[in-house]
Amino acid sequence: MNCQQIQKLIQAHHDGELDAANTLQVDDHLADCPECFAALRQISVLSGALKNEGLRYSAPASLRQAVRSAVAQTARTEREAVRTRSWIHHSGWIAAAIAVTASFLLVENRRSHEHDHLLAELTASHVRSLMAAHLTDVASTDQHTVKPWFDGKIDFAPPVRDLASAGFPLLGGRLDFIDGRPAAALVYGRQKHFLNLFIWPAKNATPAKLQTARRNGYNIAQWSDGQMNFGVVSDLNETELRLFVDDWF
Ligand SMILES: [Zn+2]
Repeated sequence: MNCQQIQKLIQAHHDGELDAANTLQVDDHLADCPECFAALRQISVLSGALKNEGLRYSAPASLRQAVRSAVAQTARTEREAVRTRSWIHHSGWIAAAIAVTASFLLVENRRSHEHDHLLAELTASHVRSLMAAHLTDVASTDQHTVKPWFDGKIDFAPPVRDLASAGFPLLGGRLDFIDGRPAAALVYGRQKHFLNLFIWPAKNATPAKLQTARRNGYNIAQWSDGQMNFGVVSDLNETELRLFVDDWF
C-alpha cells in the first residue's frame, strides 16, 4: 500500500477498527514512513485534545434546575390546557343550557307581563265604562240589534248571545280598545251588577283555556277559542262569574 492508501486507513487504525491483516500492513508501513506516522500522531493528539475535560462544558446546577422546572412547567401547562379545553367544552354546554333557560324564563316573564298588562287593561276598561256613563254605544237587549251594530265599526264579527234565561240579560254593546286594537264590549247585567265581555281577534290560533284572576276587587275570566279572545270583568264574585262563562259556552 502506498502512503495515500495508508492515510485513508490511519483513522480506523487509531480507533482500533481495522482487521488483523490491515492492522499489520499499516503498522509495517508506519514503522518505515515518518510521514504517515506523523499523520497518526496528529490524529492521536487531536483525539486526546477532544477528550480534555477543559473542552467540556458542564452545566451549572442552577441551569439544570431551571431546565428541569421549565420542562415540568410545560408538562403542567399541557395538562392544564387539556383540563381547560375540557372545561371549555363542558362550560359550552352549561352556557347553552343557561341561555336556553334564560330565554325560556324571559319568554315566560314577558308572557306573564303581557298577561298582567292585559288584566289591568280589561279592568281599567270595565271601570271606565261604568264611570263615564258610557256603558253602551248601542243599548239593546236584543242580540239581533247589538250584533249588526258592530258591522262596519270593527273588522271582525263578534259573537253576541243573550243570556237572559240564565240570569244575565244583554244590555247592549260598545266599541272599546284592548290589547292594542279595537275590541267589541258586550254589556250584561246581573241584578245591580254589570259585566263587560270584551271580544277581540286572537293572535294565536291555539285555543287558550279559561283563566281567572282578581284585580282591584274585580273578577276577571279570560279564554280564547282560537279565533277570538274573550275577557269578562265584573264585581260579581268568582262563582257567579264562572256561571256566566258556563252559560256563554
Ligand atoms: Zn507512508
